Amino acid sequence: MSHSDPNCIFCKIAKGEIPSRKVYEDDDVFAFHDINPWAPIHFLLIPKQHLISMAHVDESHAPLLGRMMALVPKLAQQEGCRPYPDGGFRLVTNTGADGGQEVRHLHFHVIGGPRPWLKG
Ligand code: 5GP
Ligand code: ZN
Repeated sequence: MSHSDPNCIFCKIAKGEIPSRKVYEDDDVFAFHDINPWAPIHFLLIPKQHLISMAHVDESHAPLLGRMMALVPKLAQQEGCRPYPDGGFRLVTNTGADGGQEVRHLHFHVIGGPRPWLKG
């Protein structure tokens, strides 16, 4: 794994230094349940490398992000999201202060389950 920030909470989660409820892990990607869920299903998918936000993504990250996007439906189903179209999920990536990003390590929120939800 490359580019870890010792002060970053999500780098620490990806390395197991801070405990989390793991959803998925491979060499490049980690997924875990959000500590403050907005909905019955809410997990975060992150690259293990310390990539700060979508604003920092360039062509070199395309294979990594492509793999992450391909994981989303698989993990959503694994975590109990009901099938499309009656079920489905929401995929959210907050970017920067105006985008509502709080943790400065790229993460995709995958949110689902029967409504109502806390947010949305
Ligand atoms: P953002 O607002 O940056 O898009 O979302 C950050 C998310 O990370 C929030 O939904 C928040 O609940 C979650 N979060 C922050 N710290 C932790 C933590 O230590 N563990 C887990 N599992 N989730 C966290
Ligand atoms: Zn990080």
